[in-house]
Amino acid sequence: MHKILNPDLCILPVAFLITICYNTSCKDNVYKKKGKQTMVKMLVFDMDGTIADFYGVPNWLNDLEAENTRPYAEAEPLYNMQELCSVLHMLSDSGWKIAITTWLSKTGSAEFNKRTAEVKKAWLAKYSFPYDEIHCVKYGTTKANCTRKKADFQILIDDNEKIRKGWTLGGTIDANKNILPILKNLLDID
Ligand SMILES: [Mg+2]
Repeated sequence: MHKILNPDLCILPVAFLITICYNTSCKDNVYKKKGKQTMVKMLVFDMDGTIADFYGVPNWLNDLEAENTRPYAEAEPLYNMQELCSVLHMLSDSGWKIAITTWLSKTGSAEFNKRTAEVKKAWLAKYSFPYDEIHCVKYGTTKANCTRKKADFQILIDDNEKIRKGWTLGGTIDANKNILPILKNLLDID
């Protein structure tokens, strides 16, 4: 089996990368057995700094230290959510699974983390963000461990470079850049 290089999908042509990833990231025997048409594909979204402008909320750090969930609730979307959700529905219709994997606060208590998870889910519901599964996990959790067995090829969309570099399940999209055109490009790939 080949070793995948964890390509950043912002840099190279997406269709090319997806083809490469399909051929290198999936277990050879599974690939041969299932064939390309039945491969399970998944998009894994981060939230803070990726789809929610969490770091743009004034005093967010003070609030977290005081175990106040306000910044999670008040964060503005980083995209026109109608447009983003419309693309996601089309991707979902074309077979992509959608997951959210988001870290909880670095210093939060178990009780605060529980409240934070609820506020994050409410934020997604407020903007009708479509997803198949959500993982609100402890700060520092290896994100690949949350969805490892859920799909054959997975793309992580995340603003954190270190997390993207640790991703081993397919490709990554750098969410510091506009993710919409890249997601739209995925619609052309089957
Ligand atoms: Mg983030």
